[in-house]
Amino acid sequence: MTETKHKTPPFDTEAAEPPEPGQTCLWRSPHTGTCHDRAILQFSGGKDSLAVLYLARPWLDKIEVHFANPGAWLPDTVDLVERTCEKLGVDLKLISPPMPIDQFHELRGLPLDVVPEWYGAEMARFLEEPRETLIQTSLNCCLEMVLKPLHHAVMRSDIRLLLRGTKRCDERVGIGPGTVDGDGIEYAFPIWEWSDDDVLEYLKGEGAEIPRQYLNGANDGIDCWFCTGHLRTDYAADRMRYLAKTYPEFMPEIRRRAEMLKRILTDETERTVSILDMALEVPRDRKAS
Ligand code: SF4
Repeated sequence: MTETKHKTPPFDTEAAEPPEPGQTCLWRSPHTGTCHDRAILQFSGGKDSLAVLYLARPWLDKIEVHFANPGAWLPDTVDLVERTCEKLGVDLKLISPPMPIDQFHELRGLPLDVVPEWYGAEMARFLEEPRETLIQTSLNCCLEMVLKPLHHAVMRSDIRLLLRGTKRCDERVGIGPGTVDGDGIEYAFPIWEWSDDDVLEYLKGEGAEIPRQYLNGANDGIDCWFCTGHLRTDYAADRMRYLAKTYPEFMPEIRRRAEMLKRILTDETERTVSILDMALEVPRDRKAS
């Protein structure tokens, strides 16, 4: 990381022209020209949003910090978020989903990156025999348990600038600088051009407490400890190894879920592939009689 990047403030309150005399401008959007005098930072407890929180220290009186916990976040993460906010004097807002995550998993299924249709909640309604467990996509689970509650919290406020720790180099990015959603919320990414090493170097330089999974080989935040989703990501194996090493007491429940899902996935895959194989075995030049 260059010295300049270290020193570049994410907000430029002095350069920005206030919209009205006496009003401050925390962030003037380079994309829309809008002057935002307040912002919400969605703090996940991972290294990237932690870096944004540290960069934002001089302006924390203008920034609400939101932390969504569906109820099963790794204890390490919750402790670090609480300790960091206490240290920086942040009045943390806890965001909860509309129902406990176990109840949601019962209703919609365990999260998985590959969902056999006959185990989805939509199909289960048409089946005579109830399923022992349902399966949903990881994205849907995070959407309902984390992202929507966070969005609703923004909508309940009058703030329309959202700060995120997403970087251009991240494996999954979604939206980027310049995004204004249908509700008029503008998204800003103060560390967009940083690398993972830049972030860790910055946090070490600031004396921040770094989430311990990053120092133990896992290069991403760990969300719900019993999550069976997001297994297609680059860091999924590191995450599992970290959990087994650091939280052996969690492993029986993680294994119980993994065994159940593996059995369902294997059965459903074999059944589907055997039919596809039949189609492939039919000679291609045979004409229907
Ligand atoms: S981290 Fe996993 S269990 Fe938690 S909300 Fe997201 S998909 Fe669901």
